[in-house]
Amino acid sequence: MYLHKELETMSRPEIEKLQLERLQATVKHCMNSPFYKKRFEENNLSPDDIKTLDDLRKIPFTTKQDLRDTYPFGIASVPLEKCTRLHSSSGTTGNPTVILHTEKDLQEWAKAVARCLHMVGLRPGDVFQNSSGYGMFTGGLGFQYGAEHLGMLTVPAAAGNTKRQIKFITDFGTTALHAIPSYASRLYEVMEEMGIDPRKDTKLKTLVIGAEPHSEEQRRRIEEMLGVKAYNSFGMSEMCGPGVAFECTEQNGLHIWEDYYIVEIVDPDTLEPVAEGEVGELVLTTLNREAMPLLRYRTRDLTRVLPGECPCGRHHKRLDRMKGRSDDMIILKGVNIFPIQIETILLQFKELSTDYLITLETKDSNDDMTIDVELNDMFTDDYGRLQSLAKEITRQIKDEILVTPHVRLVSKGSLPKSEGKAVRVKDLRKTF
Ligand code: ADP
Ligand code: ZN
Repeated sequence: MYLHKELETMSRPEIEKLQLERLQATVKHCMNSPFYKKRFEENNLSPDDIKTLDDLRKIPFTTKQDLRDTYPFGIASVPLEKCTRLHSSSGTTGNPTVILHTEKDLQEWAKAVARCLHMVGLRPGDVFQNSSGYGMFTGGLGFQYGAEHLGMLTVPAAAGNTKRQIKFITDFGTTALHAIPSYASRLYEVMEEMGIDPRKDTKLKTLVIGAEPHSEEQRRRIEEMLGVKAYNSFGMSEMCGPGVAFECTEQNGLHIWEDYYIVEIVDPDTLEPVAEGEVGELVLTTLNREAMPLLRYRTRDLTRVLPGECPCGRHHKRLDRMKGRSDDMIILKGVNIFPIQIETILLQFKELSTDYLITLETKDSNDDMTIDVELNDMFTDDYGRLQSLAKEITRQIKDEILVTPHVRLVSKGSLPKSEGKAVRVKDLRKTF
């Protein structure tokens, strides 16, 4: 049931004891990094000041800007000759950042990913196909080495060429697939076109979905379409990549591996810790990284720690489904909106497919929102029905976000598809 039983089933006091030991060692090691050494000196701080886990709060945050300012190798705590690989973030929100790894870091990363995959029931004998781009994107090699470490037969199909991807699934008897949620829906569409019924014609049973925000509704759709269980996987290049937090079979929050990371949730404005169970910015400290440990890294991802115990027997904290990044937040007519709030409503309508695009414009000096959403195949072009459907969607969205959008129902396949992570928002507003 557990891959690393002694680590996976630690009690809270055991977790915290290990965390303190590893934190103290990490902070000492960070003094090999000119960046952290200077930071500590500027703040009159020494590694000896970290006597308890609460003392972590004495240490200043590390930000994405710090990584950019020291691009490419500036924060490393080991000489470059000790590193065996580098990865770079996909650069969704700006300049890329670089993360260095030693051989040991790569092994630890593979173990973390293997633990996640094992947790959802994958075992040697499973055939694991990865539809992520290989290369700089960590979803490729990250899952590759994790799945190999677990001993599964791996199919490194990589991104693109959907028909070939499907052929691999049927020919190789793929039982588990890693895909970003928007691509999982795309796969189903193409299977339908090819006359393949995923329930009958494939052995797929497990999907690992992550890398982009998605709603519970989106997950349920994917599970229904492909006849699988889909598990949410969270990670980011700065924390290695996949393997940071993952759902167990309870599908109720993502266990974050606290032997690898210390979790804090802070108010993004005041940077003070939020009250227990409240949403805020996720801040992570790495606990067993050699090449490039990061202290109190501000991820910009918004989530909360779920209260209560998980029935699976693991005491590692559970993160709630990501609400989005602080930079994904739309401010429209003074109201704060997350795309995921809109997605949650849209996907409750079975007449709609999973693809949508939110466009923000300035009209007569006012903010204006249009939502284009694709219809399902089965839905006819009965004009009256379409009109009342659009009206109902508009009403429900207005109730949620307090702004009235223009909802346009478009035919299936007509919205642009992105190669990697889905682009859900187009902001064409004029800045005054
Ligand atoms: P980039 O920052 O350029 O997108 P990464 O590939 O490192 O590069 O992406 C990490 C980010 O992807 C996370 O910080 C988070 O915003 C998002 N992400 C990853 N997994 C999930 C998930 N399961 N749910 C929501 N968002 C996710
Ligand atoms: Zn659990």
